[in-house]
Amino acid sequence: MSYSYDDQNIFAKILRGEIPNDTVLETEYSLAFRDIRAQAPVHVLVIPKGAYVCFDHFAQEASDAEVLDYVRAVGEVCRMEGVEEKGFRMIANAGEHGLQEVPHLHVHILAGRSLGRMLD
Ligand code: 5GP
Repeated sequence: MSYSYDDQNIFAKILRGEIPNDTVLETEYSLAFRDIRAQAPVHVLVIPKGAYVCFDHFAQEASDAEVLDYVRAVGEVCRMEGVEEKGFRMIANAGEHGLQEVPHLHVHILAGRSLGRMLD
């Protein structure tokens, strides 16, 4: 599958500095910031800076350096937010059925409360 990237999406605007964000971590290829509609005491979104719609797009087109940076950024955010001890949930919504609202790859990191069962 080939992907086309909408550079008017809200995370593209955040990356261009057109919209403010509450940054948690910025690395060479990744940005982590707090979700504007937090669903838990910790709710951080981690995105690659590159123009990727979803994981498949990222896996196909990102450089090894971008992939490594992104994985490490996710881990570092978990460490910085102290979520490992009590646990957390990481979610990546994708596409129409996944109800992905923003068409720029992101993972949600949720923690700070019991998150309930997901796959009932
Ligand atoms: P999705 O449904 O695509 O997985 O999640 C998109 C997330 O982006 C939602 O949780 C939503 O609250 C968040 N979001 C949408 N617009 C903004 C914004 O302008 N700033 C921030 N920080 N988060 C946003």
